[in-house]
Amino acid sequence: MKHDLRIIGYITFAIFILLWINQLFSGIKLYENEKTQWKIHVDSIIDNNIKALSLSDIHPDPVPTFVQLDSLLHGSTHYPVHFVIQQIDSSGLELFHYSRNRENTAKMIHAKAYPIADTPGEVLLVHYNFPFAYLLEKSWQDMLAIVALTLLLVFGLLYLSHAQQHLSRLQEQMIKQVVHDWKTPLSSISTLAELVERKSIAPEDEQGLKKIHLIQEEANRLKIGSQQLLKTLSGLAHLQINRSEFNLKDELLALLEKQRLANHGQKDLQLQLRYLVESETAYVSHFYLLGAIQNLLDNAVKYSGKAPHVTVICYQKRGTLVIEVRDNGVGIPKKQQKHIFNKYYQVNKGEPAHGKKGYGLGLNYVYNVVKAHKGKITVNSTPGKGSTFTIYISKWRKK
Ligand code: ADP
Repeated sequence: MKHDLRIIGYITFAIFILLWINQLFSGIKLYENEKTQWKIHVDSIIDNNIKALSLSDIHPDPVPTFVQLDSLLHGSTHYPVHFVIQQIDSSGLELFHYSRNRENTAKMIHAKAYPIADTPGEVLLVHYNFPFAYLLEKSWQDMLAIVALTLLLVFGLLYLSHAQQHLSRLQEQMIKQVVHDWKTPLSSISTLAELVERKSIAPEDEQGLKKIHLIQEEANRLKIGSQQLLKTLSGLAHLQINRSEFNLKDELLALLEKQRLANHGQKDLQLQLRYLVESETAYVSHFYLLGAIQNLLDNAVKYSGKAPHVTVICYQKRGTLVIEVRDNGVGIPKKQQKHIFNKYYQVNKGEPAHGKKGYGLGLNYVYNVVKAHKGKITVNSTPGKGSTFTIYISKWRKK
């Protein structure tokens, strides 16, 4: 049913476009026809009026004859026509030019050349325009139809694109909500699996332990996958954040603790928090801001070799909350620094850092989160020495 409706929609749209193209072509044809009719009409007026004049009178002074011809021509048509009268010699050179308003002949139509008696090769040429008023009077219905169809098409397309955007936003919001809601059950599964491992399974029960580890691994995979999906979606649309007041210092300490646990002793990791802000609470998005800092921490560890020293420093600068994440890692070359917040950008694409796959989405996510807080993020990095990512948020306190 849904597909049928879509096909009917496409067919209607295609018919509409064909109608519009057809109307446009008939409009062009109509324009050419009317122009030909106009030429026949004006040429006969010029013919009649020139017959009433004696062209040899233009020697030695052509002005009186040309003024007379010009007013005769203007008197014979009630449309706003501009006439240009030229006297041209046998080599095609203009000898005299007459027009009321110094019009340019480039886009004008011209009548046949009238030979000037007594002077062989010399001709008189009359140019005139195709007035829009004539076209409007003759074919206003067709022009109206073209304009109406064009407007309909433009508004139709604008409406469709607006409706499509609205639908995508709704879908995105829904997916985000669902994925976000997975967080708690996944954490419960991990915690419970840990509990079962410690309390209900004997250390020598290899099979039992294997199964529990499998549950933990799968839950972890789902967690990483859902985080990745959230990052992608957050980069797609304008991020909407909900602020709440919470203890930032405690949450940062918990983040570092989580990072320490996730390391499983693989690297010689040193993590430190220097919290220098007077107030321990902040009014920001708990989910997104902590997610962004988590990303910076993940990167700091990922891109810092075997012994990462990562420090998170929080302080206040002229009322603005500043959060720095410093590492002693590989650093980022100057040239690449301006691109790293772009979606899918990776400094060494195809060479995952220590086997960890990346998608070039993390920093784009951080950037969008900071932007949604009306803040700023900068990077200061020296290849071989380390990097510092700094987040500035000026509105971080509840009023
Ligand atoms: P990825 O999934 O590749 O880590 P990110 O968007 O998080 O994507 O980072 C983009 C690129 O920036 C990375 O590929 C990496 O080269 C570089 N980068 C990010 N953080 C750091 C860091 N702390 N030290 C060195 N390079 C970094």
